[in-house]
Amino acid sequence: MSASAKRSPRVIRLVRSPDEDGVGVLSVTVSGQTQFYVFREIPCEIGGRGFVLHRLGLGNVYHVRVGEPVDCSCECMGFLAHGRCKHVQGLLALVGHGVL
Ligand SMILES: [Zn+2]
Repeated sequence: MSASAKRSPRVIRLVRSPDEDGVGVLSVTVSGQTQFYVFREIPCEIGGRGFVLHRLGLGNVYHVRVGEPVDCSCECMGFLAHGRCKHVQGLLALVGHGVL
């Protein structure tokens, strides 16, 4: 396997903008595998913006907070282990691009 093949880019897409109820859909593609998440912003009073992410198909639900680095958090194993994860990075990317 070449070095470039190992470093497959992570692609975040906003599939459906939040509707009047604030519910939208985003996708995360890693290594050619695409996962879809239904998300909804929730009130957050401790800094940053809070979202609930519901992974379609598996029923996993994550509460994710994004903002300044100190305000980022997620409930998944990846974040607990490494302090970052695709959920935080995905939402940060969409917020950073001004689509959320
Ligand atoms: Zn996560």
